[in-house]
Amino acid sequence: MAKYVIVGGVAGGAGTAARLRRLDEKADIIMFERGEYISYANCGLPYYSGNVITERSRLFVMTPEKFKQSLNVEARVLSEVVSINRKEKSVHIKNLKDNTEYDERYDTLILSPGASPIKPPIPGIDNPSIMSLRSVTDIDNIKEKIDNPATKRAVVVGGGFIGLEMAENLKERGLEVSVVEALEQVMNVIDYDLAAEVQQHMRSKGVNLYLKDGVSAFEKHGSLITVRLASGTLIDTDLVILSIGVRPDTAFAREAGIELAKNGAIKVDQYFTTNDKNIRAVGDAIEYTSPLTKSALTVPLAGPANKQARLCADNIVNGNKRPYGGTIATSIAKIFDLTIASTGLTEKSLRKAELPFREAVTHAGSHAGYYPGSKQMTLKVLYHPTTGKVWGAQAVGYVGVDKRIDVISALIGKEGTVHDLAEFEQAYAPPFSSAKDPTNMVGFIGENVLDGLSDTITWEEAAEKKAAGAFMLDVRSPEEFALGKIEGALNIAHTDLRNRLAEVPKDKEVVINCAIGLRGYLAERTLRQNGFTKVYNLTGGFKTWEVAM
Ligand code: FAD
Repeated sequence: MAKYVIVGGVAGGAGTAARLRRLDEKADIIMFERGEYISYANCGLPYYSGNVITERSRLFVMTPEKFKQSLNVEARVLSEVVSINRKEKSVHIKNLKDNTEYDERYDTLILSPGASPIKPPIPGIDNPSIMSLRSVTDIDNIKEKIDNPATKRAVVVGGGFIGLEMAENLKERGLEVSVVEALEQVMNVIDYDLAAEVQQHMRSKGVNLYLKDGVSAFEKHGSLITVRLASGTLIDTDLVILSIGVRPDTAFAREAGIELAKNGAIKVDQYFTTNDKNIRAVGDAIEYTSPLTKSALTVPLAGPANKQARLCADNIVNGNKRPYGGTIATSIAKIFDLTIASTGLTEKSLRKAELPFREAVTHAGSHAGYYPGSKQMTLKVLYHPTTGKVWGAQAVGYVGVDKRIDVISALIGKEGTVHDLAEFEQAYAPPFSSAKDPTNMVGFIGENVLDGLSDTITWEEAAEKKAAGAFMLDVRSPEEFALGKIEGALNIAHTDLRNRLAEVPKDKEVVINCAIGLRGYLAERTLRQNGFTKVYNLTGGFKTWEVAM
C-alpha cells in the first residue's frame, strides 16, 4: 500500500489528495495544513470582506471531516511540516495546537505550500493595522477592522489583482480608499494602454491612485497610520492592505536540499518531480518552463494549481505518462464594473524575452451595436511579425471580455495564428456577438499587416513619428474631430479623402488615425492605392491614443 504525504491543504494539496484517492483506493493519504482550514476559497476572500459573499461558511469547499468521509483522506490542520528527512523519507511535523512534534514516513511526498505575501522591511510595517491577505484568518482580521465604525479610510499598497479587488470591496463598504503602486500602472498583467482604462474607471469610482510612487515609511500616530510615499506625499489612514506580490513559501524545502530557483520556487520537471524522485511539487510554489518564452516561470494562479494537482496525481499513480505543458497565465479580474483579462505574453514580457512582435488593437462592441446593451471593449492581440503566431491577448470591457480571452487562450495553447483568429467561428446572434466578432477583427488587422495591405503602428510609435515630423491625418468626421484630436493633425473624413488627396504630402511619413482603427484602414488603402507608400494606421485609433497619452 502506497503512502502519500502532502504539504499544504488548499488548491494544489487538496486537489492532489482527491485525485490520488480516485486513482488509488488503497493508498494511505495524509495531508498537512499549517492553517486552521483546508480547501477554502481564497479567490473569494476579497468578496467576503465586501459583504458580496455574506455567509462565511460559503468560503469552505471542504472540511477535514468531509474529506475523511468522502475521500478517506486524513487532513491534519494546524500541523506544520517543519523539515524533510529525504534519507529516511519522512517529514517532521509540529502540531500547532499542543506544540507536540512527530515524524511521518512517506513513499511519495507532494509539496503544495503556496506562496506568502511579501512584507518588505519598510519602517513601521509591523503595525497590526497593516494587513496582508492570504487566508481565512487574514480576512477575518481585515473584516473585523472594516466592521469597526472607526475605520473610515484604507490604503492598499500594490495595484495587482488582489489589491484592486480589495480596493473595490473596501470602497463598496463605504471607506475612503487609496491605492499606492510603485509602477507607472496598475495591473501589470496588461499593458499600459489598457491599464490606463482601468485607472480612469477606478478614479471615476472615487478611488485615489498614487502611481509611480512607493511607500518609504508607515508612521504610527495613535490608531492612525500615516503612509509616507517616496514623493513626500502623506496619506492618513486607519487600515493598510499590503498586496505587493507573493513569494514561494518554501523555506523548509530549501533546508532539505530541494532545488529552488532564485525566487524560492521549487524546480520541477514536466511530471512535477523535484531533484528528489520521491518528492513532487505543484501550485504557486513551483517553477517550470514557459511554453511561450521557454524560460523559467512561476505563476501564482488557482487554475494552473488545480490542473497541476490532477496531473501530478496521475503521474504518481500511473507512471510518468502525462507531461505538463505549462501555463500561459490566463487571468481575469472584475474591478467595479470592468472586466480585465489577459492570456499569454504582454508587450513587457515580450520585450524582456526579446521576442519579436506586432500588436493589433480594436475597440469593438460586445455584441451587435443595433441590439440593446452592447458595450465597447478594448481587445489587444500581440503576434509574431512574420508567422502571425499569437503570443498573447488582453482585454478590458464591461461584457464578454471573458469569452474573448478564453477563446484566444485556447488558440495560443494550440499555437494558433492571426489567420486562425480571422477565421475563428463563434456562435453568433445579435444579443451575443457580431457576425465579425472582436476576435475576428483583431485577426483581420493582423492578417492585413502580414499580407502587406496595411502597416499598423502603436500609440507609442505614432508619438515617435509625430515628434519626428510625420504628417498626422485624422480621418474621422469633423464632429468627432472637434471633440478631441491629436495635436497638429489635419482632419479629412475618410469619405472625402479621394477628393482631397492633394492635401496629403507624398514625401512625408503619414500617420492616420480614426476612432478605433477601421476607417483608418480604409483611408490607408485609399492612400496606398494612390501612390502613397509611407503610410501607417494607428492601431486602436484615437481611443487608444486618448487613454494612453
Ligand atoms: P495555497 O492555496 O496558498 O495553499 C498552500 C497551503 O499550504 C497554505 O494554506 C499554507 O498554510 C500551507 N502550508 C505552507 N507551508 C506549509 C508547511 N510547511 N506545512 C503545512 N502547511 C503548509 N487565483 C486565481 O486564479 N484567480 C483568482 O481570482 C484568485 N484570487 C485570489 C485571491 C486571494 C485573496 C488570494 C490570496 C489568492 C488568489 N488567487 C487567485 C491565487 C490562488 O488562490 C492560488 O494560486 C492557489 O490557491 C495556489 O494553490 P497552492 O496549493 O499552490 O497554494
